[in-house]
Amino acid sequence: MTKVVTLGEILVEIVAEGRGDGFRQPVHLLGPFPSGAPAIFIDQVAKLGQPCGIVSCVGDDDFGWVNLKRLGDDGVDVKAVEISPAYPTGSAFVRYRDNGDRDFVYNIKNSACGQVRWTDAVSELLEECGHLHVSGPSLFSARIIEMTTKAIESVKSNGGTVSFDPNIRKEVVRDPEVRSALAAMLARCDTFLPSGEELTLLTEASAPEAAISEILGLGVTAIVVKDGAEGATYHDADGTSSAPGYPVDEVDPTGAGDCFDATFITCRLQGRSVAESLAYANAAGARAVGIKGPMEGTSSFAQLDALRSGADAVPGKRLTSLISRRRGGGPGAEPAGVTSVCSAHPVVVEAAMRQAAADGAAVLIEATCNQVNHQGGYTGLTPAAFRDQVYRTADQIGFPRRHVILGGDHLGPNPWRHLPAEAALAQAEAMVAAYVTAGYEKIHLDTSMGCQGEPDHLADPVTAERAARLAVVAEAAASAATAPRYVIGTEVPVPGGSVTEIEHLEVTRPAAVAATFEAHRQAFAAAGVEAAFESVIAVVVQPGVEFDDRNVVVYQPERAVELSAALAGMPGLVFEAHSTDYQPPQSLARLVDDGFAILKVGPGLTFALREALYALDQIATALSPDWSEHSLMAEMEREMLAHPGYWQSYYRGEPDQQRVLRHFSYSDRVRYYWASPAAQEAVQRLLARLSGASIPGPLISQFLPALYSRVTSGAVDPTPRDLALEAVRDVLRVYTDACRPAKTRGQLSGPGLSR
Ligand code: ATP
Ligand code: MG
Repeated sequence: MTKVVTLGEILVEIVAEGRGDGFRQPVHLLGPFPSGAPAIFIDQVAKLGQPCGIVSCVGDDDFGWVNLKRLGDDGVDVKAVEISPAYPTGSAFVRYRDNGDRDFVYNIKNSACGQVRWTDAVSELLEECGHLHVSGPSLFSARIIEMTTKAIESVKSNGGTVSFDPNIRKEVVRDPEVRSALAAMLARCDTFLPSGEELTLLTEASAPEAAISEILGLGVTAIVVKDGAEGATYHDADGTSSAPGYPVDEVDPTGAGDCFDATFITCRLQGRSVAESLAYANAAGARAVGIKGPMEGTSSFAQLDALRSGADAVPGKRLTSLISRRRGGGPGAEPAGVTSVCSAHPVVVEAAMRQAAADGAAVLIEATCNQVNHQGGYTGLTPAAFRDQVYRTADQIGFPRRHVILGGDHLGPNPWRHLPAEAALAQAEAMVAAYVTAGYEKIHLDTSMGCQGEPDHLADPVTAERAARLAVVAEAAASAATAPRYVIGTEVPVPGGSVTEIEHLEVTRPAAVAATFEAHRQAFAAAGVEAAFESVIAVVVQPGVEFDDRNVVVYQPERAVELSAALAGMPGLVFEAHSTDYQPPQSLARLVDDGFAILKVGPGLTFALREALYALDQIATALSPDWSEHSLMAEMEREMLAHPGYWQSYYRGEPDQQRVLRHFSYSDRVRYYWASPAAQEAVQRLLARLSGASIPGPLISQFLPALYSRVTSGAVDPTPRDLALEAVRDVLRVYTDACRPAKTRGQLSGPGLSR
């Protein structure tokens, strides 16, 4: 295993217990805590089980002892830490102000750590070193700069690598000597780990994109930009990938960057992928800010796994933070969206999890009232059974269950609307209770439809009162493990997409959203569930996107300007857009920017899957002409003709037009047939026919041209299953990109990045 070494200050930190300004009067103090950026870094490396050591100097005093004991106990090699008989160990006294700023009294330059020298022990440690990490503030004297430069040469001549975190404020960089030392480090390092605006501090370029090319041009192979609670973004010559931060309550920001750096570097040295390394590093940063004391928040893999699996997360908080990045409008509150996967097809679910894993993100999977309910729905699945089916897929591919967020869509009386209202609502209550009890966190209350003897569409006050009734049930079913977040609003087409051809599509009027919102607020208060109203995260609206069998209504931002502006009147909320399937990539991105932050997609995913399966069917036919007897398409045709219930009343036109629509319609009603035994058998037969020998490249080029270059480059295996998964992921990648903050969009995280 590669030994990681760093060089620089070891200090103690002493913290004022109360907040206030500086140290001009006596205050209660807490400490000494082991500290110093390089020391925190190397302690974090040790906690991850990687061999490591530090070059430094401490005084012959208790402050030195506290540090050496901690580092040594955690597994850091401290043989190159000299003990100075003449100088005291460095120290920093810190007092937090009310606004979170900090006042410091430092004793660093004139402390033992300023006396660090090149000793035999240093030579010995650097001989063993395979990776050297440099932290900008450690370069505070000409002697230390010289030593660091020599250390870099030594490590590089042994074939090792170097990482560099500037960790420095703008003002300091104005000093020409410091600037040239930092610039030299940047030019010599392999991995550059700036945070926020540090990216452009040492470059000619002032725009981030230009700075990235400039830095990569220097020979730096990887850049990781840390972005506080937002997470981090990785750049290399092949592209960019981002990973979101983990939601925690920030207690003490000191050391987050060092723990992040140490974890990212260690994970990469241990051969983990960029995505996994970013996820672990974000978890290490999150843990560090969640724990008081500079070095107290370093973590083992077990602790990071616990945080990543959400064991320590506040229930419901994941969803809120996922969805409400734009809340508060503070710095970093860039528009960002969430993809909601509305499909029960196991291949689609697997593709969504694989994509989420590559993105370092959670996956949101939703079921609808007709499909899954306490009586079974048309899939025969209860909410608990659907959850278990999703979890089985997660377990099979090693996707952490806690990264699965489940949602229930259109929960209300819809499946029982033929009954009198009271009877239908009693069923809706039982359904909502079943969803919440099974751990579904995102609950869309949709009570706008009339029941027996009522108008089709109910007035706001009645709808809201019924929604509040369901919220009462949901709150009662909520537990410590699940705190539901609600979505309200109903101005959407019926579940499953539009029935008739779209002629005129109305964008929701801002006044209508305001009225819906206000009616729900009042009804929730009247029902005694004001707190549940605080958990409303989104309102479903029609931004002007829809599709029918053969048409897609593409988002026209100018039609939604006023609707988008109405969000300002609903602080903390986002809009949810349904039927975003088949929208062009730039329209999805624009929807997110305009506040339609939850993008639901379903038929578009099974559509992509069906295309891939039919392409594989053609490949099988090309390989053996007698395959046509077993053809998947022919089997699906037989199945749909034998059981016309899911298409007949939906697909209009001459029999020949209906035949085409059965297979090739944006509504993709063929998706209802994949679960049938005959269809499953036909798909299995196809996959079996094409498994074994690999599919010849020319046939992939002919029938699955979009995947061809990935197959030839080796990024995707030419197995039928992997090709189908990849086809679905291509749709999901467009969503992933649209859901990023605008400044990080445009570089789809392709398979090249999931190394
Ligand atoms: P430092 O102050 O230690 O130098 P930094 O400025 O280098 O920190 P930040 O971007 O503040 O780096 O934080 C580093 C990483 O820690 C982030 O990329 C993120 O993963 C995590 N992190 C920081 N703040 C938070 C937070 N409030 N919530 C969750 N994660 C956080
Ligand atoms: Mg930093």
